[in-house]
Amino acid sequence: MRGLKVPRKRKNRGRSKGRKGRQKFVQCSACGKLVPADKAKRITRWISPIEPSLARELKKKGTYLPKVRRTEYYCISCAVFRGIVGPRSRAKRKERK
Ligand SMILES: [Zn+2]
Repeated sequence: MRGLKVPRKRKNRGRSKGRKGRQKFVQCSACGKLVPADKAKRITRWISPIEPSLARELKKKGTYLPKVRRTEYYCISCAVFRGIVGPRSRAKRKERK
């Protein structure tokens, strides 16, 4: 691929590994598919281990609620399905966050 003038949709081929070789695989949290870590979408959420209804009551009383950080990985198809990522126009794809 390298060196050839192949028309491609994304400069990084949808991955962030550059010239690095094989990447570690992670499991998609939704479908269980194994995806390369640099290709998967990583989502970190702070989740309270307490039930939402109970948490609301406790919050009213001003209790400190512990939160747990949960990191999830999604394969591209699941990320698109869940609205985490989506198709972007040619110009927007070049935008950097
Ligand atoms: Zn998936």
